[in-house]
Amino acid sequence: MSKKIVVLGGGTGGTIVSNNLRRHLPPEWEITVIDRDDQHIYQPGLLFVAFDLQKSKTLVRSRKKYIMPGVNFVIDEITHINPDKKEVKTRNHTFGYDFLIISTGCKIVPEENDGLMDAWGKNAFSFYTIESANLLRKRLQEFDGGKLVLNIAELPFKCPVAPIEFVFMADWFCKKKGIRNKTEIELVTPLSGAFTKPKATAIFNEAAKSKNIKITPGFELNAVHGKEKYIESVQGDKVSFDTLVIIPTTIGDEVISKSGMDDSIGYVPTHHNTLKALKHDNVYVIGDATNVPTSKAGSVAHYEADVVVFNIMAEIHGTKPEEIYDGHSTCFIVYSKGTSSLIDFNYKIEPLPGKFPMPKLGPFSLLKETKMNWQGKLGFEWLYWNVLLAGRHLGAPPTLVMAGKEVG
Ligand SMILES: Cc1cc2nc3c(=O)[nH]c(=O)nc-3n(C[C@H](O)[C@H](O)[C@H](O)COP(=O)(O)OP(=O)(O)OC[C@H]3O[C@@H](n4cnc5c(N)ncnc54)[C@H](O)[C@@H]3O)c2cc1C
Repeated sequence: MSKKIVVLGGGTGGTIVSNNLRRHLPPEWEITVIDRDDQHIYQPGLLFVAFDLQKSKTLVRSRKKYIMPGVNFVIDEITHINPDKKEVKTRNHTFGYDFLIISTGCKIVPEENDGLMDAWGKNAFSFYTIESANLLRKRLQEFDGGKLVLNIAELPFKCPVAPIEFVFMADWFCKKKGIRNKTEIELVTPLSGAFTKPKATAIFNEAAKSKNIKITPGFELNAVHGKEKYIESVQGDKVSFDTLVIIPTTIGDEVISKSGMDDSIGYVPTHHNTLKALKHDNVYVIGDATNVPTSKAGSVAHYEADVVVFNIMAEIHGTKPEEIYDGHSTCFIVYSKGTSSLIDFNYKIEPLPGKFPMPKLGPFSLLKETKMNWQGKLGFEWLYWNVLLAGRHLGAPPTLVMAGKEVG
Protein backbone atom coordinates (compact mmCIF):
# COMPACT_ATOMS: atom_id res chain seq x y z
CA MET A 1 0.00 0.00 0.00
CA SER A 2 1.22 3.47 -0.78
CA LYS A 3 2.32 5.76 2.02
CA LYS A 4 1.24 9.37 2.05
CA ILE A 5 2.77 12.71 2.92
CA VAL A 6 0.50 15.73 2.76
CA VAL A 7 1.95 19.25 2.69
CA LEU A 8 -0.37 22.11 3.61
CA GLY A 9 0.52 25.29 1.70
CA GLY A 10 2.53 25.53 -1.51
CA GLY A 11 4.45 28.73 -0.69
CA THR A 12 8.16 28.99 0.05
CA GLY A 13 8.37 26.26 2.70
CA GLY A 14 5.79 23.88 1.19
CA THR A 15 7.35 23.94 -2.28
CA ILE A 16 10.91 23.43 -1.03
CA VAL A 17 10.03 20.62 1.36
CA SER A 18 7.90 18.72 -1.20
CA ASN A 19 10.56 18.85 -3.92
CA ASN A 20 13.29 17.89 -1.48
CA LEU A 21 11.24 14.95 -0.15
CA ARG A 22 10.49 13.72 -3.67
CA ARG A 23 14.24 13.40 -4.27
CA HIS A 24 14.69 11.36 -1.11
CA LEU A 25 11.66 9.05 -1.16
CA PRO A 26 10.88 6.05 -3.37
CA PRO A 27 7.80 6.33 -5.65
CA GLU A 28 5.54 4.31 -3.31
CA TRP A 29 5.52 7.41 -1.12
CA GLU A 30 2.82 9.70 -2.47
CA ILE A 31 3.42 13.41 -1.84
CA THR A 32 0.54 15.88 -2.13
CA VAL A 33 0.78 19.66 -1.77
CA ILE A 34 -2.42 21.66 -1.26
CA ASP A 35 -2.79 25.39 -1.78
CA ARG A 36 -5.79 27.64 -2.34
CA ASP A 37 -4.41 29.08 -5.58
CA ASP A 38 -1.75 28.71 -8.27
CA GLN A 39 -0.01 32.03 -7.64
CA HIS A 40 3.39 31.80 -5.99
CA ILE A 41 4.53 35.29 -4.95
CA TYR A 42 8.17 36.22 -4.39
CA GLN A 43 7.35 38.27 -1.27
CA PRO A 44 10.71 40.06 -0.75
CA GLY A 45 10.04 41.88 -4.06
CA LEU A 46 6.99 43.65 -2.58
CA LEU A 47 9.28 46.28 -1.02
CA PHE A 48 10.63 47.12 -4.47
CA VAL A 49 7.08 47.35 -5.88
CA ALA A 50 6.27 50.06 -3.31
CA PHE A 51 9.24 52.13 -4.52
CA ASP A 52 8.49 51.42 -8.19
CA LEU A 53 11.71 49.46 -8.68
CA GLN A 54 9.88 46.30 -9.74
CA LYS A 55 6.52 45.56 -11.36
CA SER A 56 4.26 43.36 -9.24
CA LYS A 57 3.46 40.99 -12.15
CA THR A 58 7.14 39.94 -12.24
CA LEU A 59 6.80 38.58 -8.67
CA VAL A 60 4.03 36.09 -9.44
CA ARG A 61 4.51 32.69 -11.05
CA SER A 62 2.56 29.44 -11.31
CA ARG A 63 3.11 27.27 -8.20
CA LYS A 64 2.58 24.16 -10.32
CA LYS A 65 5.56 25.04 -12.48
CA TYR A 66 7.85 24.93 -9.44
CA ILE A 67 6.48 21.70 -7.97
CA MET A 68 8.36 18.66 -9.30
CA PRO A 69 6.76 15.96 -11.45
CA GLY A 70 5.90 13.14 -9.08
CA VAL A 71 4.37 15.51 -6.50
CA ASN A 72 0.59 15.95 -6.67
CA PHE A 73 -0.51 19.57 -6.57
CA VAL A 74 -4.09 20.24 -5.52
CA ILE A 75 -5.73 23.66 -5.68
CA ASP A 76 -8.30 23.80 -2.90
CA GLU A 77 -9.05 25.56 0.39
CA ILE A 78 -7.89 23.54 3.40
CA THR A 79 -10.79 23.65 5.85
CA HIS A 80 -9.91 21.27 8.69
CA ILE A 81 -7.07 19.18 10.09
CA ASN A 82 -7.81 16.18 12.29
CA PRO A 83 -4.47 14.95 13.69
CA ASP A 84 -6.17 12.17 15.69
CA LYS A 85 -7.67 10.66 12.54
CA LYS A 86 -4.59 11.69 10.47
CA GLU A 87 -6.90 13.43 8.04
CA VAL A 88 -7.13 16.78 6.27
CA LYS A 89 -10.33 18.16 4.79
CA THR A 90 -10.46 20.61 1.93
CA ARG A 91 -13.58 22.14 0.41
CA ASN A 92 -13.80 19.28 -2.09
CA HIS A 93 -11.80 16.32 -0.73
CA THR A 94 -10.51 14.43 2.28
CA PHE A 95 -6.83 13.41 2.44
CA GLY A 96 -5.40 10.77 4.78
CA TYR A 97 -1.71 10.95 5.66
CA ASP A 98 1.17 9.12 7.30
CA PHE A 99 3.08 12.38 7.78
CA LEU A 100 1.69 15.89 7.64
CA ILE A 101 3.76 19.04 7.05
CA ILE A 102 2.09 22.32 7.92
CA SER A 103 3.42 25.28 5.93
CA THR A 104 0.36 27.52 5.78
CA GLY A 105 2.34 30.68 6.54
CA CYS A 106 0.85 33.80 8.12
CA LYS A 107 -1.04 36.85 6.89
CA ILE A 108 -1.83 40.44 7.74
CA VAL A 109 -5.33 41.21 9.07
CA PRO A 110 -5.79 45.00 8.92
CA GLU A 111 -9.42 44.52 10.06
CA GLU A 112 -8.01 43.65 13.51
CA ASN A 113 -6.57 47.14 14.04
CA ASP A 114 -9.03 49.74 15.32
CA GLY A 115 -9.68 52.49 12.81
CA LEU A 116 -7.31 51.12 10.18
CA MET A 117 -9.90 50.15 7.58
CA ASP A 118 -11.39 53.69 7.62
CA ALA A 119 -7.99 55.06 6.60
CA TRP A 120 -6.92 52.15 4.34
CA GLY A 121 -5.88 53.39 0.90
CA LYS A 122 -6.58 57.02 1.91
CA ASN A 123 -3.67 57.86 4.18
CA ALA A 124 -2.84 54.40 5.60
CA PHE A 125 -1.00 51.85 3.46
CA SER A 126 1.00 48.64 3.62
CA PHE A 127 3.28 46.67 1.30
CA TYR A 128 2.75 43.11 2.54
CA THR A 129 0.43 42.05 -0.31
CA ILE A 130 0.46 42.73 -4.05
CA GLU A 131 -2.63 44.95 -3.80
CA SER A 132 -1.35 47.01 -0.86
CA ALA A 133 2.14 47.40 -2.35
CA ASN A 134 0.60 48.76 -5.57
CA LEU A 135 -1.61 51.21 -3.64
CA LEU A 136 1.45 52.41 -1.72
CA ARG A 137 3.45 52.76 -4.92
CA LYS A 138 0.80 55.16 -6.25
CA ARG A 139 0.82 57.12 -3.00
CA LEU A 140 4.63 57.40 -3.00
CA GLN A 141 4.63 58.58 -6.61
CA GLU A 142 2.31 61.44 -5.55
CA PHE A 143 4.11 62.01 -2.24
CA ASP A 144 5.43 65.53 -2.02
CA GLY A 145 6.77 65.68 1.53
CA GLY A 146 5.23 65.59 5.00
CA LYS A 147 5.46 63.09 7.79
CA LEU A 148 5.91 59.48 6.69
CA VAL A 149 5.43 57.02 9.54
CA LEU A 150 6.10 53.27 9.43
CA ASN A 151 4.30 51.45 12.23
CA ILE A 152 4.50 47.82 13.28
CA ALA A 153 1.11 47.14 14.88
CA GLU A 154 1.96 44.03 16.84
CA LEU A 155 4.42 41.18 17.40
CA PRO A 156 5.10 38.73 15.86
CA PHE A 157 5.18 39.93 12.26
CA LYS A 158 6.63 38.63 9.01
CA CYS A 159 10.18 39.55 7.97
CA PRO A 160 11.44 41.65 10.91
CA VAL A 161 13.92 43.53 8.68
CA ALA A 162 11.28 44.77 6.19
CA PRO A 163 10.27 47.84 8.30
CA ILE A 164 13.93 48.93 8.58
CA GLU A 165 14.36 48.42 4.85
CA PHE A 166 11.24 50.49 4.23
CA VAL A 167 12.40 53.56 6.18
CA PHE A 168 15.93 53.36 4.70
CA MET A 169 14.48 53.10 1.19
CA ALA A 170 12.09 55.97 1.96
CA ASP A 171 15.13 58.11 2.81
CA TRP A 172 16.76 57.17 -0.51
CA PHE A 173 13.49 57.72 -2.41
CA CYS A 174 12.81 61.18 -0.94
CA LYS A 175 16.42 62.27 -1.59
CA LYS A 176 16.09 61.14 -5.21
CA LYS A 177 12.81 63.07 -5.52
CA GLY A 178 14.41 66.14 -3.98
CA ILE A 179 11.90 66.28 -1.13
CA ARG A 180 13.98 64.91 1.74
CA ASN A 181 14.29 68.34 3.37
CA LYS A 182 10.50 68.58 3.64
CA THR A 183 9.96 64.96 4.75
CA GLU A 184 10.11 63.53 8.25
CA ILE A 185 10.56 59.75 8.46
CA GLU A 186 9.74 57.86 11.65
CA LEU A 187 9.75 54.16 12.55
CA VAL A 188 7.26 53.47 15.36
CA THR A 189 7.70 49.99 16.78
CA PRO A 190 6.64 47.81 19.71
CA LEU A 191 10.26 46.55 19.84
CA SER A 192 12.91 48.25 21.99
CA GLY A 193 14.73 49.45 18.84
CA ALA A 194 14.99 48.93 15.10
CA PHE A 195 15.41 45.14 15.35
CA THR A 196 15.05 42.19 17.73
CA LYS A 197 18.75 41.51 18.52
CA PRO A 198 20.76 44.09 20.54
CA LYS A 199 24.01 44.32 18.52
CA ALA A 200 22.29 44.56 15.14
CA THR A 201 19.73 46.96 16.67
CA ALA A 202 22.55 49.31 17.76
CA ILE A 203 23.99 49.29 14.22
CA PHE A 204 20.61 49.85 12.55
CA ASN A 205 19.72 52.59 15.08
CA GLU A 206 22.99 54.33 14.23
CA ALA A 207 22.34 54.04 10.49
CA ALA A 208 18.83 55.46 11.03
CA LYS A 209 20.29 58.39 12.97
CA SER A 210 22.76 59.15 10.19
CA LYS A 211 19.83 59.19 7.73
CA ASN A 212 17.82 61.49 10.03
CA ILE A 213 15.18 58.80 10.63
CA LYS A 214 13.51 58.88 14.03
CA ILE A 215 12.89 55.61 15.86
CA THR A 216 10.12 55.50 18.47
CA PRO A 217 10.40 52.20 20.41
CA GLY A 218 8.01 50.47 22.82
CA PHE A 219 4.85 51.64 21.02
CA GLU A 220 1.98 49.14 21.23
CA LEU A 221 -0.68 50.24 18.76
CA ASN A 222 -4.19 50.78 20.12
CA ALA A 223 -5.85 52.64 17.25
CA VAL A 224 -5.37 54.43 13.95
CA HIS A 225 -7.11 57.83 13.67
CA GLY A 226 -7.04 58.43 9.93
CA LYS A 227 -9.10 61.64 9.89
CA GLU A 228 -7.13 63.24 12.70
CA LYS A 229 -3.90 61.75 11.27
CA TYR A 230 -2.37 60.11 14.32
CA ILE A 231 -1.79 56.66 15.78
CA GLU A 232 -2.33 56.05 19.46
CA SER A 233 -0.66 53.49 21.70
CA VAL A 234 -2.22 51.38 24.44
CA GLN A 235 -0.44 53.69 26.92
CA GLY A 236 -2.06 56.75 25.32
CA ASP A 237 0.99 58.09 23.42
CA LYS A 238 0.25 59.70 20.07
CA VAL A 239 2.34 59.91 16.90
CA SER A 240 1.07 62.13 14.09
CA PHE A 241 1.42 61.28 10.39
CA ASP A 242 0.56 62.50 6.93
CA THR A 243 1.13 59.11 5.34
CA LEU A 244 1.05 55.97 7.46
CA VAL A 245 2.65 52.74 6.26
CA ILE A 246 1.64 49.96 8.60
CA ILE A 247 2.41 46.31 9.15
CA PRO A 248 -0.99 45.35 10.53
CA THR A 249 -1.63 42.59 13.05
CA THR A 250 -0.36 39.28 11.65
CA ILE A 251 -1.87 35.85 12.36
CA GLY A 252 -1.48 32.26 11.24
CA ASP A 253 -4.12 30.86 8.86
CA GLU A 254 -7.60 30.28 10.37
CA VAL A 255 -7.48 26.58 9.51
CA ILE A 256 -4.93 26.13 12.32
CA SER A 257 -7.10 27.77 14.97
CA LYS A 258 -10.34 26.24 13.66
CA SER A 259 -8.69 22.82 13.97
CA GLY A 260 -7.74 23.58 17.60
CA MET A 261 -4.01 23.29 16.84
CA ASP A 262 -2.89 26.85 17.59
CA ASP A 263 -1.25 28.82 20.37
CA SER A 264 -4.11 31.42 20.45
CA ILE A 265 -2.70 33.60 17.65
CA GLY A 266 -2.89 30.97 14.96
CA TYR A 267 0.61 29.47 15.13
CA VAL A 268 1.33 25.80 15.75
CA PRO A 269 3.28 25.06 18.95
CA THR A 270 6.43 23.49 17.48
CA HIS A 271 9.54 21.87 18.98
CA HIS A 272 12.28 24.46 18.48
CA ASN A 273 14.86 21.92 17.30
CA THR A 274 13.07 18.90 15.76
CA LEU A 275 10.27 21.04 14.22
CA LYS A 276 7.66 18.43 15.19
CA ALA A 277 4.29 19.74 16.34
CA LEU A 278 4.46 19.57 20.14
CA LYS A 279 0.98 18.12 20.61
CA HIS A 280 0.58 15.89 17.58
CA ASP A 281 2.35 12.81 16.28
CA ASN A 282 3.46 12.58 12.65
CA VAL A 283 3.03 16.33 12.17
CA TYR A 284 5.91 18.71 11.31
CA VAL A 285 5.70 22.49 10.92
CA ILE A 286 7.87 24.89 8.91
CA GLY A 287 8.03 28.54 7.92
CA ASP A 288 5.78 31.30 9.18
CA ALA A 289 3.21 28.81 10.56
CA THR A 290 5.45 27.75 13.49
CA ASN A 291 5.73 29.53 16.83
CA VAL A 292 9.52 28.99 17.03
CA PRO A 293 11.34 32.11 18.28
CA THR A 294 13.21 33.09 15.13
CA SER A 295 12.36 35.38 12.20
CA LYS A 296 9.37 34.64 10.01
CA ALA A 297 11.50 34.64 6.86
CA GLY A 298 11.94 32.67 3.65
CA SER A 299 15.49 31.70 4.59
CA VAL A 300 14.14 30.17 7.79
CA ALA A 301 11.52 28.15 5.87
CA HIS A 302 14.32 26.89 3.62
CA TYR A 303 16.64 25.82 6.47
CA GLU A 304 13.71 24.25 8.32
CA ALA A 305 12.66 22.28 5.24
CA ASP A 306 16.07 20.55 5.23
CA VAL A 307 15.68 19.59 8.87
CA VAL A 308 12.14 18.27 8.37
CA VAL A 309 13.21 16.13 5.40
CA PHE A 310 16.02 14.70 7.52
CA ASN A 311 13.69 13.94 10.44
CA ILE A 312 10.92 12.40 8.34
CA MET A 313 13.51 10.16 6.68
CA ALA A 314 14.79 9.24 10.16
CA GLU A 315 11.27 8.30 11.32
CA ILE A 316 10.64 6.29 8.16
CA HIS A 317 13.86 4.37 8.87
CA GLY A 318 12.77 3.72 12.42
CA THR A 319 15.01 6.19 14.26
CA LYS A 320 14.08 9.22 16.32
CA PRO A 321 13.92 12.74 14.90
CA GLU A 322 17.02 14.75 15.81
CA GLU A 323 17.20 18.13 17.50
CA ILE A 324 19.01 19.80 14.61
CA TYR A 325 17.41 23.16 13.93
CA ASP A 326 19.07 26.07 15.74
CA GLY A 327 16.89 29.02 14.64
CA HIS A 328 19.19 29.84 11.72
CA SER A 329 18.11 32.89 9.70
CA THR A 330 19.85 34.89 6.95
CA CYS A 331 18.55 38.22 5.59
CA PHE A 332 19.72 41.06 3.39
CA ILE A 333 18.78 44.52 4.67
CA VAL A 334 18.54 47.05 1.87
CA TYR A 335 19.96 50.46 2.85
CA SER A 336 19.34 52.32 -0.43
CA LYS A 337 19.00 51.52 -4.13
CA GLY A 338 22.54 50.20 -4.64
CA THR A 339 23.61 49.18 -1.12
CA SER A 340 22.57 46.56 1.39
CA SER A 341 23.67 44.94 4.64
CA LEU A 342 23.35 41.25 5.58
CA ILE A 343 22.71 39.36 8.82
CA ASP A 344 23.15 35.67 9.71
CA PHE A 345 22.17 34.43 13.19
CA ASN A 346 20.34 31.78 15.20
CA TYR A 347 18.41 31.36 18.49
CA LYS A 348 21.56 31.89 20.55
CA ILE A 349 24.06 33.76 18.38
CA GLU A 350 23.29 37.32 17.43
CA PRO A 351 24.18 38.75 14.03
CA LEU A 352 27.97 39.27 14.00
CA PRO A 353 30.26 41.14 11.60
CA GLY A 354 32.41 39.15 9.16
CA LYS A 355 32.22 37.58 5.71
CA PHE A 356 29.54 35.31 4.19
CA PRO A 357 29.25 32.62 2.96
CA MET A 358 33.02 32.02 2.63
CA PRO A 359 35.38 33.04 5.45
CA LYS A 360 37.65 35.96 4.42
CA LEU A 361 36.38 35.83 0.78
CA GLY A 362 32.71 36.55 1.26
CA PRO A 363 31.85 37.97 -1.22
CA PHE A 364 29.18 39.34 1.12
CA SER A 365 29.84 41.35 4.28
CA LEU A 366 27.89 40.84 7.47
CA LEU A 367 26.43 43.81 9.35
CA LYS A 368 27.96 46.18 6.82
CA GLU A 369 26.47 48.32 4.05
CA THR A 370 28.11 47.30 0.74
CA LYS A 371 27.40 47.39 -2.98
CA MET A 372 28.23 43.67 -3.22
CA ASN A 373 25.45 42.90 -0.71
CA TRP A 374 23.05 44.79 -2.98
CA GLN A 375 24.12 42.57 -5.88
CA GLY A 376 23.45 39.61 -3.60
CA LYS A 377 19.95 40.91 -2.80
CA LEU A 378 19.18 41.27 -6.52
CA GLY A 379 20.72 37.91 -7.43
CA PHE A 380 18.77 36.19 -4.68
CA GLU A 381 15.53 36.37 -6.65
CA TRP A 382 17.05 34.30 -9.45
CA LEU A 383 18.43 31.85 -6.90
CA TYR A 384 15.00 31.59 -5.26
CA TRP A 385 13.14 30.64 -8.42
CA ASN A 386 15.85 28.48 -10.02
CA VAL A 387 17.65 26.73 -7.18
CA LEU A 388 16.05 27.11 -3.75
CA LEU A 389 12.43 26.28 -4.59
CA ALA A 390 13.61 23.09 -6.23
CA GLY A 391 14.78 22.00 -2.77
CA ARG A 392 18.40 21.89 -3.87
CA HIS A 393 21.30 22.33 -1.48
CA LEU A 394 23.97 24.97 -1.78
CA GLY A 395 26.49 22.79 0.01
CA ALA A 396 25.90 24.51 3.34
CA PRO A 397 24.21 22.95 6.38
CA PRO A 398 20.84 24.35 7.54
CA THR A 399 22.45 25.46 10.80
CA LEU A 400 24.57 28.55 11.51
CA VAL A 401 28.21 28.36 10.40
CA MET A 402 30.63 30.31 12.62
CA ALA A 403 33.53 30.32 10.13
CA GLY A 404 33.93 33.87 8.78
CA LYS A 405 32.28 35.53 11.75
CA GLU A 406 34.15 37.95 14.01
CA VAL A 407 33.45 37.00 17.61
CA GLY A 408 34.10 39.49 20.44
C1 LIG B 1 7.25 42.54 2.19
C2 LIG B 1 7.95 41.27 2.54
C3 LIG B 1 9.33 41.18 2.42
C4 LIG B 1 9.99 40.01 2.75
N1 LIG B 1 11.35 39.96 2.61
C5 LIG B 1 12.00 38.83 2.92
C6 LIG B 1 13.40 38.75 2.75
O1 LIG B 1 14.05 39.70 2.30
N2 LIG B 1 14.03 37.59 3.09
C7 LIG B 1 13.34 36.53 3.59
O2 LIG B 1 13.96 35.49 3.89
N3 LIG B 1 12.00 36.56 3.76
C8 LIG B 1 11.31 37.69 3.42
N4 LIG B 1 9.95 37.72 3.56
C9 LIG B 1 9.25 36.63 4.24
C10 LIG B 1 9.02 35.39 3.39
O3 LIG B 1 8.41 35.72 2.17
C11 LIG B 1 8.14 34.42 4.19
O4 LIG B 1 8.67 34.27 5.47
C12 LIG B 1 8.07 33.06 3.51
O5 LIG B 1 7.38 33.17 2.30
C13 LIG B 1 7.40 32.05 4.43
O6 LIG B 1 7.17 30.86 3.76
P1 LIG B 1 5.93 29.92 4.19
O7 LIG B 1 5.99 28.74 3.31
O8 LIG B 1 5.92 29.75 5.65
O9 LIG B 1 4.63 30.81 3.87
P2 LIG B 1 4.11 31.30 2.44
O10 LIG B 1 5.21 31.35 1.46
O11 LIG B 1 3.36 32.56 2.72
O12 LIG B 1 3.11 30.15 2.00
C14 LIG B 1 1.95 29.81 2.72
C15 LIG B 1 0.99 29.18 1.72
O13 LIG B 1 -0.08 28.52 2.40
C16 LIG B 1 -1.27 28.71 1.66
N5 LIG B 1 -2.41 28.54 2.57
C17 LIG B 1 -2.53 29.04 3.84
N6 LIG B 1 -3.67 28.65 4.38
C18 LIG B 1 -4.34 27.91 3.45
C19 LIG B 1 -5.60 27.25 3.43
N7 LIG B 1 -6.42 27.28 4.46
N8 LIG B 1 -5.93 26.57 2.31
C20 LIG B 1 -5.10 26.53 1.22
N9 LIG B 1 -3.90 27.15 1.20
C21 LIG B 1 -3.51 27.83 2.31
C22 LIG B 1 -1.14 30.14 1.11
O14 LIG B 1 -1.94 30.35 -0.01
C23 LIG B 1 0.35 30.23 0.81
O15 LIG B 1 0.64 29.92 -0.52
C24 LIG B 1 9.25 38.88 3.21
C25 LIG B 1 7.87 38.96 3.30
C26 LIG B 1 7.21 40.13 2.96
C27 LIG B 1 5.71 40.20 3.05
